[in-house]
Amino acid sequence: MKQVKIALILVNMFDGEHHDAMQPILFALIDELTPPGVSLSFFDERIKPLPEVIDAELIALSVDTFSAARAYALSKRFRAEGKTVVMGGIHPSSAPQEALEQADAIVIGEAEDTWPKLVDDYRRGVLRAIYRSHEPPLSSFDPNHPALRSGYLPLGIMETSRGCPHRCDFCSVKVLYPQTVRRKPLAMVEQEIKANPHRWLFFVDDNLYSDQTYFLGLIRLLRKYRKRWAAQVSLEITNDAQMLRMAKRSGAILLLIGLESLADESLRQMGKRQNRQADLRQRVRRVQDHGILVYGTFVFGYAGDTPQSVKQVFDFGMELGLSVLNFNPLQPMPGTPLYDRLLAQGRLSGDQWWLDPKYRYGALAFEPASSGAEALSQAIARARRDFYSPSNTFKRWLRQAQPLRPSLCLIHCLLSHVSRREITRKQDRSFR
Ligand code: SF4
Repeated sequence: MKQVKIALILVNMFDGEHHDAMQPILFALIDELTPPGVSLSFFDERIKPLPEVIDAELIALSVDTFSAARAYALSKRFRAEGKTVVMGGIHPSSAPQEALEQADAIVIGEAEDTWPKLVDDYRRGVLRAIYRSHEPPLSSFDPNHPALRSGYLPLGIMETSRGCPHRCDFCSVKVLYPQTVRRKPLAMVEQEIKANPHRWLFFVDDNLYSDQTYFLGLIRLLRKYRKRWAAQVSLEITNDAQMLRMAKRSGAILLLIGLESLADESLRQMGKRQNRQADLRQRVRRVQDHGILVYGTFVFGYAGDTPQSVKQVFDFGMELGLSVLNFNPLQPMPGTPLYDRLLAQGRLSGDQWWLDPKYRYGALAFEPASSGAEALSQAIARARRDFYSPSNTFKRWLRQAQPLRPSLCLIHCLLSHVSRREITRKQDRSFR
């Protein structure tokens, strides 16, 4: 079979380095899945500009919605050089027709059951236009892979599952993983934990707390290997003080929780049933009472959300001393029920707003019902800037539920510092 050189590029949405780039485990996974006889090279634009010349005949671009404009420009350049371009990731999976116009082939969904076939077809000269994944079992990857070693936050990235049992209407998770949640066997996860050189792990699972029994098995492993860890979980974990106690004993340092809104009506509109009627103050305190930091996320743009709602969330985050609070404009990502609804109502600022040179990062891409898009976007930008000022970072630390260990103070301050730098770098920039 023909020998080929393939370059895999993680496309950046803007020029310039990210200060918070996490290990791109996709690189190690693709290496694992690539058939023999292929020379692979990896480029992560988030941490280093691309070289002038890339010595590869097949270019694979990993693309999300915010990096689509840049990916299409790169594709044009590489195709003009006579290279073949394939695209995968959340954006080609959500907007396949659009991506197909810009590439020789696209992958819809995951790599495990598409990438080996795509490479094989390319080598035989029979590349198809679309490779569609059918929710394959998850593969393991080498956490010591050389492409994961430098330029990233000093965290070992782990993935135990894909998918989420919930159906929030703004979320892209169901676009990629429409059926059930799939998990790696715990024996496989144990091997990955054992092999991971980092003491601190971050789980990129969409929702690490989607199955209680599996979660308990996982935290037993984490305790055994004396790891420190952080993860994204749904609010249900806060129902159970015993679970939080065990999570803490297993090394939990931070939980990222989609709190989303203080208004029950907004939670209803977004289909976030698990958060409705919950006393969010009490839930956050319960996590903090166990010595775990909270990273909360909120969205603004549902009917009823106004600049005042942003201010209320700001005050909520300050009062509770949240270590990180994402003030997210509600973004209609392609493929989501939210996007389809706003498109049908003619309320989007553009059907492909992510390609609009006038669109600026941080702005709303549609007209909200109860507030002007501009006024709400500005309130979000202001809250983002003020929340991470050094004095507010200090105040938030003092308002944590209990005195915490110095190492957690360091994490709280570091997270605030990195968030501040990234907001300053990204806010109001247009995608290139
Ligand atoms: S709980 Fe989180 S991951 Fe699950 S559907 Fe809702 S927003 Fe998406």
